[in-house]
Amino acid sequence: MTSSFDPKGKTFDQRLKAFLADAKSTYLLTIGQDNGRTIAWQQKHHVAHMFLYNSYKSTKPSKVSTGKRTISWEHFSSPTTVWNTIKASDFLRTKANAAPIKQGSKWKVGFEPDQAATEKQAKFLQTSAGIGNNGKAMVSSGLKPCGEPCKCGAGRSKHLDGVAADLNSGHLTQLKTKLTVAKAGTLDEYLKKFGLHRPLLNHPSSPEKWHVEATT
Ligand SMILES: [Zn+2]
Ligand SMILES: [Zn+2]
Repeated sequence: MTSSFDPKGKTFDQRLKAFLADAKSTYLLTIGQDNGRTIAWQQKHHVAHMFLYNSYKSTKPSKVSTGKRTISWEHFSSPTTVWNTIKASDFLRTKANAAPIKQGSKWKVGFEPDQAATEKQAKFLQTSAGIGNNGKAMVSSGLKPCGEPCKCGAGRSKHLDGVAADLNSGHLTQLKTKLTVAKAGTLDEYLKKFGLHRPLLNHPSSPEKWHVEATT
């Protein structure tokens, strides 16, 4: 540890930059970051999560079926639901696994969305994007407030507000090894010197060992 960085009064970005620079100069490691998140990406995977699972304890979509916590199929598949920021055609699938076709304000006969095919498509969206826990992990909203077809009360992703970053897991493992060899303490102690921590490390349903935020 060569830096005399004082995180007090520094932004998340300044802390992260100082940490990355120190890891590079002290341990010769360039730690990668996941910068792939956009508002649309975040909202798409949030809506898929709220349609399939909704692992949030205290928030529900505005339209749920009786006794359920996920977006109701009736609302999700309605030809009159106007989707906000994301496209229904990325989610809805017919029995033949094609995008449904509209005729006026109704679905064309034989080209209506099918619930099982649509659920399969939404699951595919989550797993192919690498969402944790086999695609079942919670995903925060991309919008503030959340929009159609979900409109829940979940908070917007901290990634989009520039107060969180996902660091490359493999690089973090390499850094841990180097810290051990140098007898320089744990990764979390090292992060703490820069005013950073990993608040989702032991999250009960969606742990993220790579997710870094500023301490207060
Ligand atoms: Zn929502
Ligand atoms: Zn994260």
